[in-house]
Amino acid sequence: MSSIAEYMAENLSRQEIVKQIKKCDTAITVIGDGTRPLPESTWGELIDWNNLTSIDWPAYKNNCVEALRLLKPKPAPTYIPGKGTVDINAIKARVDIVDVISGYITVRKTGRRFAAVCPFHNDKSPSLIIYPESQSWHCFGCNLGGDVIEFIKRIENVDFTGAVAILGNK
Ligand SMILES: [Zn+2]
Repeated sequence: MSSIAEYMAENLSRQEIVKQIKKCDTAITVIGDGTRPLPESTWGELIDWNNLTSIDWPAYKNNCVEALRLLKPKPAPTYIPGKGTVDINAIKARVDIVDVISGYITVRKTGRRFAAVCPFHNDKSPSLIIYPESQSWHCFGCNLGGDVIEFIKRIENVDFTGAVAILGNK
């Protein structure tokens, strides 16, 4: 566990960390192999809280993802386990998996499908594919996949109930 991730988890909101991950995606795309730093003039907004002089973008992104995992899940005001009936299929039908996943990471349309750099392993190319027809996703790098709830479980580091609650609030 890195100190950068711990720092981010303590000092940034979930929304801000998600924003950082998107910036990393952009940076990695811009510089191709992810090993050369961006021009110094672009750094301020991104890393004004430390003194890094160069950035390994994939590593920095890993820190952001780790920070997201370290964050404590927020209580869910609209979902109380054991109270009433929660129709999970109805909650899932209300959202589109592409919208939900692109709220966390950068997603690109490729034909009928969508592709993204996987946040769950050290991905160099877009290995995570989203299938709108079946509202599912699969990563060909780390072999993870499933429905929208499975994605939220992993990216938010919550259990099934927590993921349903987060989805119910979207
Ligand atoms: Zn993966």
